[in-house]
Amino acid sequence: MNFPRPLPAVTDVSRPYWQAAREHRLDLQRCDDCNQWIFYPRQVCSECLSSALSWRQVSGLGSIYTYTILHVPPHPGLADDLPMIVAVVKLDEGPQLTTNIVDCRPEDVAIDMPVTVYFDDIDDTTTLVKFKPL
Ligand SMILES: [Zn+2]
Repeated sequence: MNFPRPLPAVTDVSRPYWQAAREHRLDLQRCDDCNQWIFYPRQVCSECLSSALSWRQVSGLGSIYTYTILHVPPHPGLADDLPMIVAVVKLDEGPQLTTNIVDCRPEDVAIDMPVTVYFDDIDDTTTLVKFKPL
């Protein structure tokens, strides 16, 4: 039996993030009052609670903060993606994203490895933000 791939649950708050990804751009919120970068998308700044947040493009560059390698699918719809590298990437701008590392053998992934964003167009409407070695 084939299971459908799980898709992101897009909300009004996160829609600009997903739309930018669709256009192969990594946009994050930045607080207009304290200049803090923010991820995941929120209605107020996680630092100062200001609601003056703007979407800005970031470099897409970062490094692997930590990772794990999955050999059992976390969802039956992801069974074809194994082994899957799940990582926390620390962007050069500061925020951390939980993501997948692609174009990398599991035995080659390492903490502090420099990575760059990779946009995975998984269907006609959804693009996932992943990272690959620089
Ligand atoms: Zn703020």
